Amino acid sequence: MHALSNADLHSHSTHSDGTLRPAALAARAQANGVTLWALTDHDELGGLPEAAAAAHDLGMGFLTGVELSVSFAGETVHIVGLGFDADNADLRAGVAHTRGGRLERARAMADGLAAVGLPGAFEGALRYVGNPDLISRTHFARWLIDTGVCADFSAVFRRYLSTGKPGFVPHRWAALGDAVRWITQAGGVAVIAHPGRYPFSPSAEYALFSEFHTHGGRGVEVLTGSHGQADTLKYTAMAAEFGLQASRGSDFHSPEESRTDLGALPDLPGTLTPVWLGLAHRVQPPRR
Ligand code: AMP
Ligand code: MN
Ligand code: MN
Ligand code: MN
Repeated sequence: MHALSNADLHSHSTHSDGTLRPAALAARAQANGVTLWALTDHDELGGLPEAAAAAHDLGMGFLTGVELSVSFAGETVHIVGLGFDADNADLRAGVAHTRGGRLERARAMADGLAAVGLPGAFEGALRYVGNPDLISRTHFARWLIDTGVCADFSAVFRRYLSTGKPGFVPHRWAALGDAVRWITQAGGVAVIAHPGRYPFSPSAEYALFSEFHTHGGRGVEVLTGSHGQADTLKYTAMAAEFGLQASRGSDFHSPEESRTDLGALPDLPGTLTPVWLGLAHRVQPPRR
C-alpha cells in the first residue's frame, strides 16, 4: 500500500445520511480512481457488509469505518473509526447506544419547527430516511429544501438546525474516551474528523487534541471536503505537534449535495504519516 495511493476514508450511504447505497458508493469511488475506501456512516455499521463485498468485486481495497457522534466541551465532535473488527461486541454496543435517542430527538426537532410555523417536519424528514434508526438533521434539511422553505443546506442550518435555532435540540452523544476506546479495543484506529469545522476556542481545541491522544486516538483528518487551504496547513502542523497520523476523506454524502467527490482530494502533504500505512493488516484486499 503506497503512501500516495488514492485513499478516501470518509463517506456516507443510505444507512445514515448519504443518498447512495453502499454498492453504488463503492462503484462511484472505484470509477473516480479510489484504491482504498472506507464507508463511515454516522453511528451505524449496517452498511459495511454490502460495502465490503462491492469493494472486493470492484478490485478496491476496503477498510471498515464509522463516524461516531461525541459530545465534548459543549459541542458535537465527530470521531472516525477505521479498520476495526465490525463484529466486536463492545464496539457494536457502543455504536448502538450512541444512535439511540435519535428518534426522540427528531420528534423534539419537529416540535421546535412546528412552533415557528413549519408543521409536519417529522413525517417530512422520515420520507428521506433510509434507516429508521438513523434519522439526522440532514434528512430534515432535505425536506426543508424540497418543500421550498430554504434554498440550500447552508440556509437550512443557519436558520433552523444549528445551535440555538428553532429545530435544534441539544443532545448528549458519546463521551470522547468511550468512542476512542470502542474503536481501538476492536483493533481499529480513531481519527478526529474534520477538525476545521468545530467552533472551539484555541484552548478547547488543544484540550480536544490532547485528551483524544491520551485516550488512545492516533489520527486526524488533514484533508477533508470541508477544509480549505488554511485548515490543511493548520492541521498538518497540529498532526506533527500531537504525533498524530493523517487521514484523507471526502465526507461524500450525495452527487447532488457534496462539493467534494469521492477520490477528488489532493495528496496528503509528504511530511505526514498516512493513517492507512499502519492499517495494512486490516485492509480487505481486492479480488485479483
Ligand atoms: P446529526 O448527526 O443529526 O446532528 O446531523 C449532522 C449532519 O448534518 C452532518 O453529518 C452533516 O451531514 C450535516 N450538516 C451539519 N451541519 C451542516 C451544514 N452547515 N451544512 C450542511 N450539512 C450540515
Ligand atoms: Mn452527515
Ligand atoms: Mn462529520
Ligand atoms: Mn461525515
